[in-house]
Amino acid sequence: MAKIAIVGCKRVQDQLCIACEKCLKAISEKDGEFARYDDDIELMALGDCGDCPGLIMPKVTLMNEISDMLDRKYDTIHLGTCVVKAKKTGQCPLDFDKIKQLIKDNFGQELVVGTHDY
Ligand code: SF4
Ligand code: SF4
Repeated sequence: MAKIAIVGCKRVQDQLCIACEKCLKAISEKDGEFARYDDDIELMALGDCGDCPGLIMPKVTLMNEISDMLDRKYDTIHLGTCVVKAKKTGQCPLDFDKIKQLIKDNFGQELVVGTHDY
């Protein structure tokens, strides 16, 4: 079982992309970045990035604290396609390479940039 979390853009999540249905569909159909998993996928956490101007590390820290507390740990965090679009078409300040390294160093988790193509 692949245990994952998704972090979405706080400005988009449930405002411009409703109820996270797209990521949920992509997980169940193994679309896009979820095609990498041979095993079944279990979504352990679904949160937002903590808002601009780039509060993702404190937010990921809190997410990991609560997942530890509830014994719902995950190995991989996906940045939602909403975050990728915010970076490409908005003024999202997140540095994906830097966050990837910080998450690896601090939590030993992998960061995948993106979720689905729709
Ligand atoms: S891209 Fe995914 S995480 Fe982001 S708002 Fe849409 S469904 Fe939710
Ligand atoms: S634009 Fe970037 S930092 Fe701002 S809320 Fe969206 S993902 Fe988070």
